[in-house]
Amino acid sequence: MKNKSHPENRITDLLHGIKISVEPEDLICYSFDASGIESRPSAVVWPKNTEEVVRIMRYAFENEISVTPRGAGTGMTGGSIPLDGSIVLSLEKMNKLAELDTNNLNVVVEPGIINGRLQRDLEHLGFFYPPDPASMNFCTIGGNVANNAGGPRALKYGVTKDYVMEIEAVLPDGNVITTGVKTAKGVVGYDLTRLLTGSEGTLAVITRLRLRILPLPEDVIALLAVFDSLEASGSAVAKITASKIIPRTLEFMDAGTIAAVENFKPIGIPRNVEALLLIELDGHPSAITKQAEKVVEICEALNADVKMAEDETARDKLWEARRSISPALYHLNPTKINEDIVVPRDKIPEILKKLRGLSEESGIQIVNFGHAGDGNIHVNIMVDKKDGGKYLKAESLVREIFEVTLRLGGTISGEHGIGITKAPYLGMEIKKHELKLMKGIKNLFDPKNILNPGKIFI
Ligand SMILES: Cc1cc2nc3c(=O)[nH]c(=O)nc-3n(C[C@H](O)[C@H](O)[C@H](O)COP(=O)(O)OP(=O)(O)OC[C@H]3O[C@@H](n4cnc5c(N)ncnc54)[C@H](O)[C@@H]3O)c2cc1C
Repeated sequence: MKNKSHPENRITDLLHGIKISVEPEDLICYSFDASGIESRPSAVVWPKNTEEVVRIMRYAFENEISVTPRGAGTGMTGGSIPLDGSIVLSLEKMNKLAELDTNNLNVVVEPGIINGRLQRDLEHLGFFYPPDPASMNFCTIGGNVANNAGGPRALKYGVTKDYVMEIEAVLPDGNVITTGVKTAKGVVGYDLTRLLTGSEGTLAVITRLRLRILPLPEDVIALLAVFDSLEASGSAVAKITASKIIPRTLEFMDAGTIAAVENFKPIGIPRNVEALLLIELDGHPSAITKQAEKVVEICEALNADVKMAEDETARDKLWEARRSISPALYHLNPTKINEDIVVPRDKIPEILKKLRGLSEESGIQIVNFGHAGDGNIHVNIMVDKKDGGKYLKAESLVREIFEVTLRLGGTISGEHGIGITKAPYLGMEIKKHELKLMKGIKNLFDPKNILNPGKIFI
């Protein structure tokens, strides 16, 4: 939507007391996210509490000004990009851990708290918040909830939606709602908490959250298994889970990813291998030692070379390598296309084979890594935007990859959401009448279409 005029002095007057900027340096800093798309906001506001968010949304509603909520701007699909001069509403100043209820195992936080900070604060006290996106050291919990973020531990512990108990949110017209319950169970009315989780900032601004937490697992064992064949690594994944072991992570990297990471931040992974699995088991030490022995047996039977991280420092080093995949690939190719498809776990070998075929046929390198345990593969089409012809070819590969993914019973996004970049493909997965329902829900929450317009639906 196009904004009605909102002269700078009017905004600053009417939002008196709220930190606001229309300075070019701020507008530039808040004009992009990790998708690489860029669009300038007309202003950036930094509310400190719910009451200030209410005032901002009331002002926006009355004046039909569009507003884009923003966490840390690490989203991969352009969700926090302010289109058509939207105001950016940054939640980064609302970053408190407000309440820790150890009797009932939950925590209340403001949306701007960084995921990694919450993890560390809880771990010091012997508690655990499992959702761990690779961006955890810089993304916000509000952004995680808005995108229903997942991470390596999703295999055993699920994703963000499995931990959201209550949401306080401000509607586009400035009214405040609280959804969900403080209790472990609750089935009264429609589940608006699940609806807001993953709504990508298009239905309401999340201002407070109650999250479920767990006791910290007693011990963790990390194993690194390197394979001389891609298919063997896929078989190992299927065999580990078929043997009734659910590791807390089962991460996969192919040869291209390993080379990129070793060039960017060398940790000594052999370069002459086809794939690796980073496997973590958590629980009681005696139970996970037995499970680790079984995992080693399965991988070695598939010709893998398996090493165990001897201590926490060695484990952290492995995770540092895993978390530097995205920066390493961007370093190689800043305009690469990055998709996050999911297929049923037993279809991983098939999709990897198909991706290799598409890469060979098109002559475009495709680098894959991801959460093999839950079938979530990050497909990186290594293409340079300056090479127009090749870029067009790469975009047509995306559609082909999505078609195969859907044919195999998968989904076109496991983590990153739709935002701007995946909006043209939404109709490939969501049928017309379901899409109509979704648009109806958007209209009910946001009749003036002022909250994060131009996202999800085009
Ligand atoms: C290196 C790297 C690794 C990544 N790894 C993962 C991964 O493993 N798993 C994964 O799921 N994602 C991953 N991501 C993507 C990204 O980090 C997640 O989507 C994350 O949840 C976004 O959080 P954010 O705070 O940066 O939100 P932003 O990017 O600022 O916003 C994301 C969306 O949420 C909305 N939003 C933000 N805050 C609020 C709020 N308070 N109320 C309402 N709407 C809001 C925005 O409008 C936008 O639509 C990765 C990104 C990078 C750069």
